[in-house]
Amino acid sequence: MAKSAIPQFYLQVAIPSRVRQCFDYLPPADVPLPLPGTRVRVPFGRQTLIGIVVSTSTETSFDAPKIKAVLEVLDDEPLLDVPTLALHRWASTYYLFPLGLALQTSLPKAVREGKTLHAPTRLTWQLSASGLELNPDSLGRAQIQKQLVEYLRTYSTLNTAELTTLVSKSAVPALKALLAKQLVMQVPAKADNIPPDRDTKQQSLQLNDQQATALQAIRLSLETYKCFLLEGVTGSGKTEVYLQLIAEVVAAGKQVMVLVPEISLTPQTVERFRQRFQAPTVTFHSGLSDKQRLDGWLAARNGSASIIIGTRSAVFTPLPRLGLIIIDEEHDSSYKQQEGFRYSARDVAIYRANTGKFPIVLGSATPALESLQNALSGRYQLLELTERAGSASLPAMQILDMRLQNNNEGLSPALLQQIRQQLTNNRQVLVFLNRRGFAPLLLCRDCGWIAECPRCERSYTLHQQPSCLRCHHCDAQKPLPRQCPGCSSTNLSGIGLGTERTETLLQHEFPDYPIIRIDRDTTRLKGSLDQYIETINSGIPCILVGTQMLAKGHHFPRVSLVAVLDADSGLFSADFRGQENLGQLLTQVAGRAGRSEEPGQVLIQSYHPQHPVLQQLITSGYGVFARTLLEQRRTGRLPPFVYFLLIGAEAAERGLPLQFLDEARTLAQELGTRDLQCFGPMTSPLGKKAGKFRAQLILQANKRTTFQRMGQQLLASLEVLPQSRRVRWYVDVDPLDFS
Ligand code: ADP
Ligand code: ZN
Ligand code: ZN
Repeated sequence: MAKSAIPQFYLQVAIPSRVRQCFDYLPPADVPLPLPGTRVRVPFGRQTLIGIVVSTSTETSFDAPKIKAVLEVLDDEPLLDVPTLALHRWASTYYLFPLGLALQTSLPKAVREGKTLHAPTRLTWQLSASGLELNPDSLGRAQIQKQLVEYLRTYSTLNTAELTTLVSKSAVPALKALLAKQLVMQVPAKADNIPPDRDTKQQSLQLNDQQATALQAIRLSLETYKCFLLEGVTGSGKTEVYLQLIAEVVAAGKQVMVLVPEISLTPQTVERFRQRFQAPTVTFHSGLSDKQRLDGWLAARNGSASIIIGTRSAVFTPLPRLGLIIIDEEHDSSYKQQEGFRYSARDVAIYRANTGKFPIVLGSATPALESLQNALSGRYQLLELTERAGSASLPAMQILDMRLQNNNEGLSPALLQQIRQQLTNNRQVLVFLNRRGFAPLLLCRDCGWIAECPRCERSYTLHQQPSCLRCHHCDAQKPLPRQCPGCSSTNLSGIGLGTERTETLLQHEFPDYPIIRIDRDTTRLKGSLDQYIETINSGIPCILVGTQMLAKGHHFPRVSLVAVLDADSGLFSADFRGQENLGQLLTQVAGRAGRSEEPGQVLIQSYHPQHPVLQQLITSGYGVFARTLLEQRRTGRLPPFVYFLLIGAEAAERGLPLQFLDEARTLAQELGTRDLQCFGPMTSPLGKKAGKFRAQLILQANKRTTFQRMGQQLLASLEVLPQSRRVRWYVDVDPLDFS
């Protein structure tokens, strides 16, 4: 063989583009070969993009002379470690989504944009040696400086923002003055973005027997993969089990990831961790600035943060020492991304624990049927907490038969009377209605015309604050008509009940008590939800009115009555998950009642009080209810006993989505094994949205591998279909949303 030259290496680079494959590039000659996980700047068509090297090889499947060179290597060492890269690769394959775009999911903006990264160098203030010895009186009349010195003496380190909050805006010039006198100094901040609470270090609670058994079971598997389902009724002390487990794992030098639903990453949640741990903690949620997100991400990635609390996308954060994942409220639908990269953070987390060989705990009072089935079949270990912790007891649930009531615009007299009684007893009442706005319909009383969004062909919701018609499907908004466009009558009225109207009705009934409405409309402003929660926690007698935002995770000790205004819409849902979701929602809302010593009460208004689903939920609880639903799913051949893959399509031209999906069906049947069944194509339940006609095709299989075997080829064939350019289409593996 001839003496070979140094072999030519090619870099396989994942590029943030809808194009599914990776592309080969030549490494630059003057720097060492970039390792997988490194960011590179590459030419792509007429653009320059930031890609990530996913592998290197001496072979290429591209036309070698045409391969372009990398323009720049952006990191000296890989930005993403091998396990993180592998995690993205798996998720990209499983969810049939381009790797280059999947890789972007959890990357902070600066990282995506190719900025050079430095470790966070935020500075905090400390007293210098002479500052520590100083007699504050020697500062004379410099009051602000005196205060600063005193705070720094108490807290030892504080950053500028904290000092400004504690003292005033003039803290900054005063700090500069102290710095000039060398009484204070600036030191690099620790990696956390939520400083531990320095005053209180809350003690662990004495666990009850069930909690102790659960903790012990998990503790025995800290060195291996195992998935636990902690099924604990609301208020049973699941969080206490997490906290004690986390303490142990962090003490062993490992990192812990805690995933929480979008809505429940509140200061209250974070506060609970702050009070318990001194370990550096970072949070990831939508409220962070780019800078905060970047700092947290870097601290997580370099291992200096021990506890990571985040919503869905945090599951992809690189964590070199990860030793435990906790998924709180694991049934929550916000774990599944409903657009673009349609992954389930819960399922990705389970894969991550499995490959990383550490335990994962799924916790919920109302487990998803998927998780419950895995626990019952022995794939996961089931841990049960059947009673409330401490001295609290579960609330009694009762149905109010609306057929017998003199219905006062949706609030029955029996209910009003109960509310009155609780308020007189200085308690709080939670009124739940999962429909925001004033009324779901605007009707002409003379000719029957209904105001409808032309782009969605669904009725507008009437809002009063501010007064307008709003489409809850496409967010379109228009002024309230003064006259009916059909018959010119002015006899228009809102039909049905939304949270706004409920608030008004309650205000009228109980003028002496504050009514706090919590829904997407009242909490749009950042921090407003926290403010409401603070008012509620002050303990004053009041009524809370709200949507499912109120149902999740909150701990309102003074709420003694929970009223569910309308349970019926969930009973007759067309979605096969409708009853499961209703059971979860009702149980979670009910769980807000009676969380301290005094027992709580739950009243559910229904026109179908004998409905077996409602009856079973109320008499036997979610656990039994869910197990019954599982049996129905088994006989009905529905998930979790079969797997679904949904192909959705939409287009401005009416027939196109169905045409495209017809072709898709033919392709799927050619590529699929005998395990594959197709349903549809059919018009989607929401057949038109924002001016686009929508349709779906559902593929069903008994084995997940069926989709995995055919998936990539199916996508490749779909992409070259002539109609594929004229419709917008997507693939959703394990879909939750069939709308
Ligand atoms: P969950 O997460 O299951 O809803 P929490 O952990 O929030 O339950 O606990 C509910 C309440 O019970 C909290 O106020 C918590 O402090 C208290 N609690 C939890 N465990 C215990 C325990 N072992 N003894 C006494 N109180 C407890
Ligand atoms: Zn009319
Ligand atoms: Zn609309």
